[in-house]
Amino acid sequence: MEAPTEVKEKPMQAESLNVLNRTQLVIQAALDKMGCAESLYELLKEPLRLLTVRIPLKMDDGSVKVFTGYRAQHNDAVGPTKGGIRFHPGVTEDEVKALSMWMTIKCGIADLPYGGGKGGIQCDPRTLSFGELERLSRGYVRAISQLVGPTKDIPAPDVFTNSQIMAWMMDEYSRIREFDSPGFITGKPLVLGGSIGRESSTAMGVVLLLREAAHVAGIPIEGARVIIQGFGNAGSFLAQFLHAAGAKVVGISDAQGALYDPEGLDVQYLLDRRDSFGTVTNLFPNAISNQELLIQDCDILVPAAIENQITEDNAPDIKAKILVEAANGPTTLKATEILTDKGVLIVPDVLASSGGVIVSYFEWVQNNQGYYWNEEEVNEKLQQILKKSFYNVYQLSLQKQIDMRLAAYIVGLKRMVEAIKWRGWI
Ligand code: GLU
Repeated sequence: MEAPTEVKEKPMQAESLNVLNRTQLVIQAALDKMGCAESLYELLKEPLRLLTVRIPLKMDDGSVKVFTGYRAQHNDAVGPTKGGIRFHPGVTEDEVKALSMWMTIKCGIADLPYGGGKGGIQCDPRTLSFGELERLSRGYVRAISQLVGPTKDIPAPDVFTNSQIMAWMMDEYSRIREFDSPGFITGKPLVLGGSIGRESSTAMGVVLLLREAAHVAGIPIEGARVIIQGFGNAGSFLAQFLHAAGAKVVGISDAQGALYDPEGLDVQYLLDRRDSFGTVTNLFPNAISNQELLIQDCDILVPAAIENQITEDNAPDIKAKILVEAANGPTTLKATEILTDKGVLIVPDVLASSGGVIVSYFEWVQNNQGYYWNEEEVNEKLQQILKKSFYNVYQLSLQKQIDMRLAAYIVGLKRMVEAIKWRGWI
C-alpha cells in the first residue's frame, strides 16, 4: 500500500516525537499487513471529527481566562466513540487525535463495542482552585455537549482528571439534556453510577498483563524487581498491587523526580506522603531524575506517566527484560525497534493500559441496564478479557514474527475494518 507523502516522509527523516505521526505509521503498517486498500488508511489516519473549543473561565480573583479544549472522535463504525479527557498544559490537537486513535485500538483488542475518542483541555489543574476546576469542567461539557452522549461519544478520566470531575461533567450534561444521564461519562463516583473497581482498573489491568508477560518470559513475579515511572492514579495503585503480589518495587517517580533503591522501596510510606497530584519525591534529598530512573537495573519497567519517555537515546541503556506500557505512548518507534532487537518483551500501551476502558465499558453497561455488579463479577470479567487480549496479540506477534506493537494494532483494527466494510463506507 502506498503511503500518502505527508505521512511517509516526515517521520522517516529522524525519529519523530509527534505522537500522531507515529500512530499513523503503525496504523499504516498494520493495514498493510492486513492487505487493506489504501482508502482505509486514508479514512483511519485522522479522526472522523475534531472539535476545538474556547472555554472562558471566571477565576476566583474576578479575572477571566480563556482555555482551549478538544474532543476527537476517531471512528464510530463499530459503535459510539469512547475515551478520556485530560487536563494538562501539554495537550495539543495532534496529541488528542493520536490518543483517540489509540482508544480505537484498545477497544478493538478488548472487543468492546466502541470506536476511539479523546478530549483534553490545555490547562494546569495544579494551579486552579477547586471552584475554578469545577467551572472549567462544566464549561467544557457545555462547549462539547452537541457532539457527545451515551450513544454517541462517552468520555472518562485521563491524566489529571478524576471521579469528582466526572461527577461535575455528568451533572452538567444531565442539566443540559434535562434528564439524568449516568451513561454519558464513566469513571464516576460509586453513588452516581460508577462501577466498583473502575478507579483501580487501569493498574489492575497492568498487573494482570504483567503477570502473563512475566509468565511467557519465565520471570517469577515473586521477587521480580520493578520500576514504575509515575505515581498518579495508575502508578500508585500499581505499586500497591505489585507489592502485594510479592514483587519488589525498586523505583518510582513523579513529575519532580525519582527514587531508586535496589533493596526495594517502602511503598506504603511513599503512598502515605504523596499529595493529590502524586508528588512525593520532593521530600527526599537523594531523589534522581526521571531519565536516570528508566535506565536503572530492574526486571520489569512500567512507564505509567506520559508520552515519549523511552526514545532511541535511552533505549540502548534500558536494563529491563519486560516493558509494560501503562501510560499512553511512552515509547517511540525507534525505541520499540531497539528494545525488540534486544529481546525485551513489550506489552504495548494499547494493550497494557486497556483495563481502564474495559471497566469503563462495564460501568456504561451497568448504567444502561440500571443493575450493578459486585467486585468479583467485575474482576472476573476484566481478567477474562485481558487474558484473551494478551494471548491474541502475543500469538500473532510470534506467528507473523512482528513486534508486539504492530501485532496489537492488527488485532485492534481487525473489527473496525470489518465494520467499515459491512457498513459499505469503503
Ligand atoms: N483514559 C483512559 C484510557 O486512556 C480510560 C478511557 C475510558 O475509560 O474511556 O484508556
